[in-house]
Amino acid sequence: MRNEKELEIIFCKWCGQDTSMLGIGICDSCWELETKIERDLEIAERIILSIKAHKCKKTEKEIEKAALIISQRVMDEWYGSEEFPEDCQLFEEILCGLLQDNPEECERLIGTAFCEEEEVKDD
Ligand SMILES: [Zn+2]
Repeated sequence: MRNEKELEIIFCKWCGQDTSMLGIGICDSCWELETKIERDLEIAERIILSIKAHKCKKTEKEIEKAALIISQRVMDEWYGSEEFPEDCQLFEEILCGLLQDNPEECERLIGTAFCEEEEVKDD
């Protein structure tokens, strides 16, 4: 028989490490980070975007250009673009924003049929 009561362990919902913080379901480190992010979400988003952008080989301007080209091209090809021009415009804006906020993913599409390398070259 054990003297110590065995601690119940769960896995942190953010990092997957085991934690005994059953109530909140996240480890100390992730709780700290989450609390800081929540304090100023807008600044946290800008910091994250900047860190992601620095991992790219393309410049910020090239990513912006690529996001615009890719979103326009995708929507031009959509079969409903003539019947639903406003919905199409909305989706194009959303898609462009998502691509700009994910520069690494956007960069992956440069050099594909969606966006040629030459189209985004910085002048
Ligand atoms: Zn964690």
